Amino acid sequence: MDIRLDNEVAIITGGSRGIGAAAVKLFAECGSNVVFAYRSNADAAAAVVRSCPGGPGSDGRVIAVRADVSKMRDARKLIETATKRFGRIDTLVANAGIWPADPLPIERLSEREWDEMIDINLKGVYTVIHHAVPHMMERKRGRVIVVSSTAGQRGESFHTHYGASKGGLISFVKGLSTELAPHQILVNCVAPGWVDTDMCVPVLTGRREARRISAGIPLGRVGRPEEVAMPILFLASEMASYITGEVLNVNGGNVLCG
Ligand code: NAP
Repeated sequence: MDIRLDNEVAIITGGSRGIGAAAVKLFAECGSNVVFAYRSNADAAAAVVRSCPGGPGSDGRVIAVRADVSKMRDARKLIETATKRFGRIDTLVANAGIWPADPLPIERLSEREWDEMIDINLKGVYTVIHHAVPHMMERKRGRVIVVSSTAGQRGESFHTHYGASKGGLISFVKGLSTELAPHQILVNCVAPGWVDTDMCVPVLTGRREARRISAGIPLGRVGRPEEVAMPILFLASEMASYITGEVLNVNGGNVLCG
């Protein structure tokens, strides 16, 4: 059985690069309309639109919206763009996030850095869900897929604010899944391990560090963005119609180690 999402509407945050960009392309290839958010990189966003089936604009089936998910008004604008253009929301993928590569010991971790992390990675998931869910409730149908991390399950030394934000997402998803189940809205997490995206460039470009990281992953390599996008697609599809409140690990076995 092929996964088809013809005429559905997906909103994907952080769709201009990395995992989000792979998800935008995959959802579009499966027939979905897609509205995706990016924060600042308009060129990258335009390139993603061009790369989707149908070429530039894909008959308006793939739309990029500049929206900072940490801001309530931007989140509202993103959701309104989707509902005005397409009249419904089937799936929300809350993927946008940041991970500063430099190690930050707790005594150097500033209030500004803590607040920025929580505002984007944790509040930035709440903002879009808050505005999208009423539209799903109206239709008694919806999928919410939140991108957490291995760090949300085992923590991350020297990136403790990142681990805290991603761990918070997991308990947010668990609570929300039972709250929204009566509305037939399924809420799940995908938790990637190391994935080869811009986020990890500072770490993965160092050959010794890249080798050390790969050696610590049971499958012996970091993941590709498409390898996270496909499990996201699975959770959005009919194949996952009885799964809610779950954390789907996509990490080559990495969460089992370390
Ligand atoms: P990435 O390549 O750095 O891309 C991040 C995306 O998020 C970009 O599209 C960026 O937009 C967008 N973004 C950042 N802050 C935003 C904001 N405030 N509002 C709206 N959009 C924002 O990252 P990635 O590796 O694909 O990561 C995607 C998700 O996977 C993140 O939540 C990350 O924590 C998680 N994750 C990644 C890894 C990994 O190894 N890569 C591992 C575990 C979990 P611009 O292009 O405009 O900047």
